[in-house]
Amino acid sequence: MTSRRFLTVKFIVLFAFVSFCLPVLSSDYYAQNPAPAFHSTILQESAPVQTAASAFPGNLSWRMQETPSIMTYKVAFAGTPGKPASHEGMDFVHNISSVPHVPVIAAAAGTVAYVRTGCPQSSMFSHNTALREAGAGWGNHVVLYHGNGIYTRYAHLAPGSVKAEVGEKMVAGDVIGEMGNSGRSETRHLHFEVGYKKTYFVASKPSQSFDLVLNPEKFMPIKP
Ligand SMILES: [Zn+2]
Repeated sequence: MTSRRFLTVKFIVLFAFVSFCLPVLSSDYYAQNPAPAFHSTILQESAPVQTAASAFPGNLSWRMQETPSIMTYKVAFAGTPGKPASHEGMDFVHNISSVPHVPVIAAAAGTVAYVRTGCPQSSMFSHNTALREAGAGWGNHVVLYHGNGIYTRYAHLAPGSVKAEVGEKMVAGDVIGEMGNSGRSETRHLHFEVGYKKTYFVASKPSQSFDLVLNPEKFMPIKP
């Protein structure tokens, strides 16, 4: 009896150790660990600048199924692999005020991993002066998890427009929120990132960086 109990304890310790060592692989983690509520605050926080990469670790292949938004012009990703990126994503700018609402949609099927709301904006089409570092400069933003450590981030969303909740499963094309000018932004645009992270996002914590960011244009169904 004693030795059987000892074996059980040994097995539990071994299992805990193996679980701890496993990389991020579970696509269901965020659905099984939903946040109790949106992380919403007027805190201004910072997050480390993300490192550019030219490929996912292990050369994982991945494709986007939808372009995340319409635009009037783009600003490209910029960065040298292995160094901090100078522009960590691609911008979809839409600066025509006669179009009042521009939806932002999921680029591929995934689970909502992180939601940051509570970031104000002083205007929609000029230099935002309100809490520019809220959401670590991303403003209101949503992160989707696509499995194998692969994520997308949708930043500068309009205050009050975010529809996504942590743990929610989305298909490509589902509406995440509306394009806005919150955070470190000069006019209405979506800053869209494709990233890799080997640990999970923590829903209750301030904004978090990816380990790596890649040029989103490499994964788009149609070149924008
Ligand atoms: Zn940007």
